[in-house]
Amino acid sequence: MIQLKEITKIYGKKNKTTTALSKLSLDVKKGEIYGVIGHSGAGKSTLIRCINLLERPTEGEVWVGGVELTRLGKKELQQQRGKIGMIFQHFNLLSSSTVYDNIAFPLMLRGASRAESKQKVDELLSLVGLEAHRSKYPAQLSGGQKQRVGIARALASDPDVLLCDEATSALDPQTTDSILSLLLDINRRFNLTIMLITHEMHVIQTICDRVAVIHEGGIVEEGPVSEVFLKP
Ligand code: ADP
Ligand code: ADP
Repeated sequence: MIQLKEITKIYGKKNKTTTALSKLSLDVKKGEIYGVIGHSGAGKSTLIRCINLLERPTEGEVWVGGVELTRLGKKELQQQRGKIGMIFQHFNLLSSSTVYDNIAFPLMLRGASRAESKQKVDELLSLVGLEAHRSKYPAQLSGGQKQRVGIARALASDPDVLLCDEATSALDPQTTDSILSLLLDINRRFNLTIMLITHEMHVIQTICDRVAVIHEGGIVEEGPVSEVFLKP
């Protein structure tokens, strides 16, 4: 579902460059929860941003759902990005829009009818357990509730893939677990492919099927979580 083929990302120019990723390859299967763990500066956020081309790799190919994104023009890329949902550490919600309108935003951009939007947003509010908060603004919500809005918004365009960029790093341990179990539930229910980056081992051990450990822009270990991190 997600394939990276020898991705290299070099920031900067001439004599002042940083190689954030170096010929990195990986392959995430449909329905899998795939985690990438590494220390700060290892290249995790560059990696996840390369998948929807928020960051363009200097070299290499990015494939999502059988389509090579790195060879698409602007318009086609925009279309393909609809298949990729993303959630963020700091949620990235629209602060002057309600919960309802935040979730409806991608549908509005797509030109969905009001009735279609309403049906979809109602379903998503129920899925993430926020029916009672539909008319609130982000500032009135807890961190966990904000991330639930983020998840609902990411799912509004029925993506094939959900990318999670340190999605629980701003949350306390209990809230982290409730978000992880929601992600697991969504993965099982819709067979949605999830790729996440984190610096927290707990996240990997709680929900990931496979894990890649990255260090200095390359994968140093990869495999099923139970093999890479032997449990005592
Ligand atoms: P992580 O998410 O694992 O902390 P990053 O992908 O943010 O790692 O960073 C990997 C390397 O790339 C680091 O050395 C970082 O300083 C560098 N880097 C990240 N973004 C930029 C940028 N926009 N310009 C220059 N260097 C960057
Ligand atoms: P616009 O700003 O384009 O007039 P609205 O914000 O009025 O759009 O809402 C568009 C649709 O979303 C309407 O069908 C409305 O019923 C529905 N809607 C908006 N906010 C809520 C809410 N808090 N709860 C339920 N439905 C809502």
